Amino acid sequence: MKYCCQDMDRNINCKCLEHEFECDCPDCIIMYLPKFDEYSIIIHDGGFSGVEIQYCPWCGKKLPLSKRDLWFDVLEHLGFEEPMDEEIPEEFNDDSWYLSDKYREIIKLVKHKL
Ligand SMILES: [Zn+2]
Ligand SMILES: [Zn+2]
Repeated sequence: MKYCCQDMDRNINCKCLEHEFECDCPDCIIMYLPKFDEYSIIIHDGGFSGVEIQYCPWCGKKLPLSKRDLWFDVLEHLGFEEPMDEEIPEEFNDDSWYLSDKYREIIKLVKHKL
């Protein structure tokens, strides 16, 4: 995965030995979710919440639009009503679902409906 700039790269790949999860670490401010292609600012409230961002806070580059809705819509098309609680194809746990050709037709179809 190539990020827009070094600062982004450093922050997303921040490896802190003190905190197991980046959400717990005050030094990590940005997280990237490959399955949604989504960048967000981590809210350090003890959970896994974040606020989606559309521009890199360091270099100002426009970031990809989150594919969170598309993720849900494609899975719904495949018959998964509650994808968070169901066993979904493993491609949907990272960015493979929209990078591979496998679901390209479905993605096109679903996008068309949006
Ligand atoms: Zn950047
Ligand atoms: Zn830390």
